[in-house]
Amino acid sequence: MRYFVIVTALLISCSGKDRKIFDAHLHGDPDLEKQFQTLHTSGVYEAAVSSGWEIQQGFGIEHNQVSGVKILHGLFIPCPLGKVPYSQQKRACYENGNEWPEVAWVEQQIKEKKINFMGEVLTQYYGISSSDTLMYPYYALAEKYNIPVGLHTGSAGPDHGCPDFKEEMGNPLLLQSTLNKFPKLRVWLMHAGAPFVKEFIEMMKANPGLYADISVLNNPVIIPPADFSSLMKSFIDAGLEDRLMFGTDNADIETTTKAIEQLEFVSAKQKEKLFFKNAERFFH
Ligand SMILES: [Zn+2]
Repeated sequence: MRYFVIVTALLISCSGKDRKIFDAHLHGDPDLEKQFQTLHTSGVYEAAVSSGWEIQQGFGIEHNQVSGVKILHGLFIPCPLGKVPYSQQKRACYENGNEWPEVAWVEQQIKEKKINFMGEVLTQYYGISSSDTLMYPYYALAEKYNIPVGLHTGSAGPDHGCPDFKEEMGNPLLLQSTLNKFPKLRVWLMHAGAPFVKEFIEMMKANPGLYADISVLNNPVIIPPADFSSLMKSFIDAGLEDRLMFGTDNADIETTTKAIEQLEFVSAKQKEKLFFKNAERFFH
């Protein structure tokens, strides 16, 4: 009996089912089965995923067949050189291998519920502003169908394979003219606009519908924990605890959740908001 109790307790703590996680920033791995099993056992019950079109089709329409994790399907726009960044030029973003998807095709996918959000928006990797007029037809569609838009901001890792990438195009302030032109657009800024966090906080205050995911920032392999802690303190002190969402960007789930769990100035209630409550409100 005692043995049984211990084993049960171990199983519960290892399964991660005692916590709820919504991963707002994920890309599909070629080994989908393994990826989603890991997420599931870590407590992830829903994820916003963007991948090359072929991988995207393997997720299943609403739930990943293997793990049962609920999937929201994204679409990279645009797609520099027609390939998913960091895929070593191996994977196409769309079936036809183009850099820009046809607007009518995108609309059809939205209608068929094969796309639930636009993202990751890769304008910076393409070397243009997030408010470039090339994006307007897509933003107009997102507004028309009320689907979220997730925009890459900040910097980039090595070996992304996009020769036109421009660091200065990662400034979140570039999006302001789009927000003025499409006032109903539901946008979240990926990586919380870092390293332009000061500007982004002002922007969030001025645009109450703007959300952010904290992927990469919560990855201690890339951002030192002390820096993550002070960034989070700035957001919390600015009263933005209701608009920050957890994301892994495919980093280790245990490490990225631990980075948040160990923030002493963030209450248990605020952590719940970060791990799933804010994302549920934003995406649904
Ligand atoms: Zn990104």
